[in-house]
Amino acid sequence: LSERLSGVFDRLTKQGALSEDDVKTALREVRVALLEADVSLPVARDFVKKVQEQATGQAVTKSITPGQQVVKIVHDALVDTLTGEGEPGALKIDNPPAPILMVGLQGSGKTTTTAKLAKRLTEKDGKRVLMASLDVNRPAAMEQLEILGRQIGVDTLPIVKGEDPVAIAKRAKTQASLGGYDVYMLDTAGRLHIDAELIQQAAQVRDVANPRETLLVVDGLTGQDAVNVATEFDDKIGVSGVVLTRMDGDGRGGAALSMRAVTGKPIKYVGLGEKMDAIETFEPDRIAGRILGMGDIVSLVEKAQETIEAEQAEKMMKRFQKGRFNLNDMKMQLEQMLKMGGMEGVMGMMPGMGKMAKQVQDSGFDDKILKQQIALIQSMTKMERANPQILQASRKKRIAKGAGMEVSELNKLLKMQRQMGDMMKKMGKGGMLKQAMKGMF
Ligand code: GDP
Ligand code: MG
Repeated sequence: LSERLSGVFDRLTKQGALSEDDVKTALREVRVALLEADVSLPVARDFVKKVQEQATGQAVTKSITPGQQVVKIVHDALVDTLTGEGEPGALKIDNPPAPILMVGLQGSGKTTTTAKLAKRLTEKDGKRVLMASLDVNRPAAMEQLEILGRQIGVDTLPIVKGEDPVAIAKRAKTQASLGGYDVYMLDTAGRLHIDAELIQQAAQVRDVANPRETLLVVDGLTGQDAVNVATEFDDKIGVSGVVLTRMDGDGRGGAALSMRAVTGKPIKYVGLGEKMDAIETFEPDRIAGRILGMGDIVSLVEKAQETIEAEQAEKMMKRFQKGRFNLNDMKMQLEQMLKMGGMEGVMGMMPGMGKMAKQVQDSGFDDKILKQQIALIQSMTKMERANPQILQASRKKRIAKGAGMEVSELNKLLKMQRQMGDMMKKMGKGGMLKQAMKGMF
């Protein structure tokens, strides 16, 4: 596929903008790549259509080929679709003891994943975890969890023969409260297929435990089936997140894309083997690369990205050196900061900014504020962004209202823009700006 793609891309002509034909030709190959990666047909079709609309007419960036550019657009769109809201892998486990319900088909990896997550929560997050097996169907299922628990040093609820899943869930809850646990995990029984009994059982347990997270464990190698399973579980039980297992296999991970596109549920973790450490938070970037299928495409994309960002940085720097720093520049900066791990991350990279980073942090300036500031700038007209000095009281009122904020917050933003502008000017003179920008892009 790699060769086929680059062949097609080499033939794309280099004009001012990506032509519809160029994009179509490239996307035909991308569609094949998606299907080969086990993305479901309707999802692949929708995805390609979306990218087609985005890409056609886009100006060709001068230092990369149109083919690279289409790949970059495809890659970014994949990452976009794969990205769930919130921190990757974050679980709602405040208010101890927090119940986590694990559901899924038999053999999907529920028990293994329960233990892997328990280990992670214990070791990484310092949580006290209690695991309980509710699998009364399969002989030795409860012992399986007990053995894993002993192996990883996590407590399991003592086994009482003859209890039903609801009774076990109740006992786990009591034990977790009395024992001062932060989290208790309920590992349910699965079936080979979804049936009424399985769903009913899981629903009863859910009603008793009132789980903070209901994690659906699905076999990442099962492609379209995985999506059907997810839809069904979500409809009937309600799922808060997905764990894709067997991503160490040679499947391409297309299930991830279909899953996100169809159910909209965040993929929280991926299972990468049978060992207890073989679990990672879901990284959209990595799966996007895998779906496109090959290292050289990914490195192509990375190179394209670097080039584009370097060009942007260059342009911006020229403006700063001339002492120009308007709200458009600021918006770009703020967005870039968000992308790079927020305020703290960026400030840390800039020489001489350590102290300011600390001040900023102490003043409670966090990513939420970054987003609010971007919203404020967005609610300005083009002219206002380029010429912040024209902002009088009435304009300010309108802008603040448009962003759902107070004028005082807008004033803070404007003050910061002026300060940043001054700083840029000063730094530009000393050549420090160049150095600082290098760290940022
Ligand atoms: P359950 O029936 O859903 O509880 O599934 P289990 O947790 O018992 O797992 C079934 C089998 O799949 C076991 O042999 C696990 O070791 C294996 N397994 C689970 N997760 C993964 C994974 O991410 N990668 C691989 N290769 N095997 C896994
Ligand atoms: Mg099991």
